[in-house]
Formats: sequence, C-alpha cells, structure tokens
Amino acid sequence: MKAVVIEFHQETNSFNPNVCTRSYFEQSRIAIGEELFELIGKPCALGGIFKALQEKNVDIIPGISMFTMSGGRVDQKVVDEFIERSIQAIHQHASIDAVFISLHGATETTEHEDCSGYIIEAIRSVVGNETILACSTDMHANITTKMMEHSNIICGYETYPHVDHFETGYRTGKLGLSCLLDVNKPKMVQVKIPMIVPASAYTTMSGPFAALINEGQLLVKNREIDDFSIYQMQPWLDVEDGASSVIVIAKEEAKAEEYALFLARKLFNLRESFQPNLYSIDQVIKIAEKNTNSQPVVLVDSADSTNAGATGDSVAVVKKMLESGSKVKTAIAIVDAPAADLAHEIGVGNKAVFSIGGTKLPEMNETLQVECYVKSLHDGTFVQEGPAGRGMINNIGPSAVLRIGNIDVLVCHHIFGNGDPQLFRAFGMEPTLYELITVKACTSFRAAYSKFTDQIYDTDTPGAASVDLKSLPFKRLSKHVYPFSSLENKEMNEFVYGKS
Ligand SMILES: [Zn+2]
Repeated sequence: MKAVVIEFHQETNSFNPNVCTRSYFEQSRIAIGEELFELIGKPCALGGIFKALQEKNVDIIPGISMFTMSGGRVDQKVVDEFIERSIQAIHQHASIDAVFISLHGATETTEHEDCSGYIIEAIRSVVGNETILACSTDMHANITTKMMEHSNIICGYETYPHVDHFETGYRTGKLGLSCLLDVNKPKMVQVKIPMIVPASAYTTMSGPFAALINEGQLLVKNREIDDFSIYQMQPWLDVEDGASSVIVIAKEEAKAEEYALFLARKLFNLRESFQPNLYSIDQVIKIAEKNTNSQPVVLVDSADSTNAGATGDSVAVVKKMLESGSKVKTAIAIVDAPAADLAHEIGVGNKAVFSIGGTKLPEMNETLQVECYVKSLHDGTFVQEGPAGRGMINNIGPSAVLRIGNIDVLVCHHIFGNGDPQLFRAFGMEPTLYELITVKACTSFRAAYSKFTDQIYDTDTPGAASVDLKSLPFKRLSKHVYPFSSLENKEMNEFVYGKS
C-alpha cells in the first residue's frame, strides 16, 4: 500500500484583518518531503497518522506540512503552493491507495471561504474516486459540505483543551486503512448543527460537554460505532457554510446516522449552557487585591486570544490597572512589534515612553503612551511545557519584558503557544510568583494553569474573539444559526449529510 501524507494547519478568525502570509508558516513549520519524518513519534496529528501507517507497513510518501497558529485569512498563494507540492508528491507514483491530510478545518483564504474543502476537492480531482482520502482536524473545524463530499474519513479532537492531537491522527490513520483493508467498510454520516458558541464556555475536563464526549466514547467502547467527532465550530469564522456538527463513523450506515443524530440533538440542547459567566476587568483586579492565598489569579482575556485568531495587541487590562492605581503584581503578553523593537534599540536597564497596543486592530484595541523600564531582551524562542505540544519549539520573534510599576509586559512580534506557562516562564516571568496573570486564551491554558491555580476568571474584554458573538460584525454566516436565531424546535434530521 502506498499513501501520501500532507498537512495544512491554520485557524482563521474572520474579524482579524491581518492577512496570514507565508512568513507566518515559515515561523512555525514548513516541512517538505523527508523533513516530515522528523514528526514521527511527536505529539501531533501527523505523528499519530505515521504510527498507524507504520503498523501496517504502508509505503509512506511524505508530501508537505504547512503549519501555523491562528490568525487572519490565509494568503491564497500559500494554499496554492501547498496544493501544488501535494500534487507533486502524489505524481511521484503511478498509483496511490490513500492520502492522509492533517487539517485544522476552520480556515479561510483571501479568495475562498472554505479553504479545507478547496484543498480536499483539489486532491480528489487528482487522485480520482478510488483513492481513500482521510482527514484529521481540530475540534473547532467547520466541516463543510465540500469536505464531506470528497473525504472518506474525517476525525476531530475529542479533548478541549486539546491534548489528543496524536490520538486523533492515529484514529484517522486506522480508519483510513480500514477503508482499504476491511470487507465491511466504515460509513461516515454528518449532522450539521446550526449553532456557534464562544470557546471559553465549555471544556472536556468537566461539565456537560465532557459528559457528552464520554457518551460518544462509550458508544465506541461498546462497539456500537467506530468513531465520533463533536465539532464546535470556531465561532469567529464568518462564512456562509458555517455550523457546528457531529460526525459518526460506523460499519452500518443506519447506526452512524442514528448516533450522529443522537449526539447532535444533545449538543444542540446544551447551547444555552455554553454561555460564560463574565467578570469585569475591575472586578478581577479587586479579587486579586483581596486574594490571601498563594495561588495567582488568572484574568482570562479570551477576546484577544491569538489561539482563537485574535490579534493579541489589546492593552485593556494594563489600562484598567493603571487607572485603578492597583499595586497588584501583574503579568501580561502583548503583540507589539514596534515596542519590542524600541526596547532592543534602547537596551536593558533604560527607560522610555512607549506606545503600546492597538498595532494590529486599532478599530477595537486602544494604544497607551506610558513610560516603561526595559527589564530584559529576548530572541523569542521557547520550548512548550505542555501537556499539549510538550517539547514543541515556538518563536514569538524579537521580544522584551517591559516594567510599568508592578506590571510586567512581555511585548513581542507575534504570540505562539499562548496558554502555555512557558510563554512567561521562558522570559523570566514565573507565573506562580505573580498575583494576577492575564492569559489571552479561551480554554487551552487550563490544562497547564489548573495545576497551580483554581482562581480563574473569564473576563469581559474587547477583541476579535469576543465572547459576545452578537457584538461582532457577522456578514456571511446564516442568520438561522444560534445565537442569531433561537431555533426553538429545530429538527436535526434535515441537517443529515452522508447517507447514500
Ligand atoms: Zn481548537
């Protein structure tokens, strides 16, 4: 058996106007041909796909991996290059049995709303209908009609915070091979769910969403079905064919449909419970001031989460701290390339008036003029401690720690690995020694931060990943999607896709 393995990974936030160019991928990962084999055994989706293929002695043809973190729409030229390289790998051999694709699945380009569907369709048109196409995706993917039309297998993460990248790749690999090897081939059914909810309001660590995932896992364990994915579409994607969905894979199509509907109805019924309870910035500052135990207070600034594709350049918390005159020892990271460059220019131990914030999204994020002391300078590389992506190397570009009274601000060119404590630790800012830490992430940070604090407060802040979805300028997403429509008695049967 011969299989091509490729990867295209970026999560788009439609409200971030900064185009994601090739340079963003260069900073994270562009691996071509044999370079992909460096990911064998690594805690990522490709690592899992490789394991499944190696177990069955599949002849692996490495194509290309282009990977970067969340952000604005991807420059179409980058996707065209990806497809061209993938097709070159496919054409190296006369016949290919399968193509395995690791995708994020919620990606928009400067020209196409459905980047993932566009990629899968392009690959399908080259390999024909007999070749198996199996895709692994993020839990926040938008599984479009086009993706379903041209794929045999689609699997998404079952954890949030995401810690099962490898396992998801492995499931994708196993199920893709099952399509080739088994007499009774797996059937895939999708049910679309017309809802989007903010990503900070649910987790698979506890609560109703965790219970729902457990139900799905029980169905797999009891061999009722082969696989399931519950997709909570990343809610800052403003596309026409946008929705959450459930995919179930089973040997019998009727079973796949029955359980996809079962899980979809349950998810839809939970929609009201996925609204977070928000504190104001001032309230969280007060909580930190009154805090008497040694755990730091975490102010969750999910609206400016670069993990959710927001711009990371908000100074809303710093502004409130300065206005309140609070003396709480605070840590925060802000994307601000000019401030980082100025710090490098004037050097450690010196002071200057800096303009901080609003460099990426001035429509939403303010700029502060404030005197800062340059505490330290950095090249921006750091190693993630995990649990997610432990050992992965990130680079936030030329960066500096600026001190404003009791506030330490890490300014950098871009934020990667937001939510991993090493984003602070590696730059001399030990999170456990602060009284207040602003974390610009939705839920991902909980896997690491909950080990040293349970004082975590979702906070009402401005940004391109605002929790208040109705406040954002959606133009293309259907008005029939919750929370824009209440959809009281929606019957899920009309949203089934994949029945033959
Ligand atoms: Zn995700």
